[in-house]
Amino acid sequence: MSAKQLAEIMKALANHEFQVYYQPQYDPTTNSLRAAEALVRWVRPDGTIVMPNDFIPLLEETDAILALDWYVTEEVCNFFQKNNIKTIPISVNFSRKHIHEDDFVEKLCNITEKYDIPRNLLVVEITESALVEQPEKVNSMIMESRNAGFRIAIDDFGSGLSSLGFIKNISADILKIDKSMLSQNCENEEERIVLESIFMFAHRLKWTTIAEGVETPEQLGFLKTCGCKLIQGFSYAKPMPESDFLEVCKTDVNVDKPGDILLEQPASVAQDLLLEAVFSCYPLIIFCNLSKNSFYMMAYENYTAKSCPSSGSYVELIKKATETMYPDDRELFASTFDTANQISAYERGEKSLRVITRQLGDDGIYRKVETCNYFVKNASSNDILAITLSRNIEELPNLK
Ligand code: C2E
Ligand code: MG
Ligand code: MG
Repeated sequence: MSAKQLAEIMKALANHEFQVYYQPQYDPTTNSLRAAEALVRWVRPDGTIVMPNDFIPLLEETDAILALDWYVTEEVCNFFQKNNIKTIPISVNFSRKHIHEDDFVEKLCNITEKYDIPRNLLVVEITESALVEQPEKVNSMIMESRNAGFRIAIDDFGSGLSSLGFIKNISADILKIDKSMLSQNCENEEERIVLESIFMFAHRLKWTTIAEGVETPEQLGFLKTCGCKLIQGFSYAKPMPESDFLEVCKTDVNVDKPGDILLEQPASVAQDLLLEAVFSCYPLIIFCNLSKNSFYMMAYENYTAKSCPSSGSYVELIKKATETMYPDDRELFASTFDTANQISAYERGEKSLRVITRQLGDDGIYRKVETCNYFVKNASSNDILAITLSRNIEELPNLK
């Protein structure tokens, strides 16, 4: 950038020609406003608007970008205070150059203090590419900011060269999925698989997800099935001047109508709830492959007889489990769950085998337990599979 260009930009900054626009972020399940991103515009005195991509890269060649980002941060805090906004967090883009500012977090604290803004209302956006370039430095800046109470968003995820393995070590709060990930309009099988995996991964790590650049109903529909938490894109709203955004804040925040979670959330939410109910009913759930003599425990934590292994040979498991039964019940248990007996029951067309026996727990107490093996079929294999569901019926404290 020439000295003349830089001088022009610095003069524009001093003249308040840079304006902060706000782009709302919506919860797609309730269509309510949840947050926003601050995006800078250079509005020249003649009214022409210069977009950030036409001056940010120039400013990034020098430290002038630092001044611009702090100017935007201050404008955002001023907006919060002036309008008494307390529930809509706003994110600010910070250039990678800030990693060289030793007092970065101190500055954040000073500005939020000056305007009396709760720190968690200000979200620091850092691009994925900055992370990839200097992972250690950026990560320590992220951790310091978070420790001070600010939230961190990784911007443009999917546009750089990072991977899920890399990003899992970053202690941020929000993952913003870049619009380039939606380039096939979410209609291409491979693109959908990649997106599904990213959302599943991010949600398991308890990250908030935001999809950027959502323009079409197809994209929106698919993102909803992935459980994407917030949507930022033209399909809801374009970046807008402060006065327009204030109107949106006044009208949209209160239109939050919590609906029926089971109908609005993806099928996986309903499945998780179902599993929770099954787990609380059956403390022991085992997947058994009778043809391959193998098994693994799917639920085991709250089971009282932990002496059994958690995976391995099914025949061995039945042998071990039989030893935990009351002596009079051992024959019934062992013969019912004998592999040959189960396979012939399956071949006769039985749907399940069920026994009630008395079993000794690790705590020395006998319990009446129900064990039921349901035969199941898997389309991709001829193996005979069974799922064991076992539950306690009652404690038998007097049985020795
Ligand atoms: P970003 O942070 O990824 O911001 C999102 C960009 O996507 C914005 O472009 C926004 O207008 C655009 N966008 C949002 N929804 C849609 C959509 O549905 N379709 C399309 N085609 N675009 C959409 P914008 O405002 O031109 O900003 C471009 C970039 O400039 C930003 O990308 C950010 O990296 C940078 N930037 C903007 N303001 C600042 C700032 O204050 N400081 C710094 N350091 N960088 C900034
Ligand atoms: Mg951004
Ligand atoms: Mg982005």
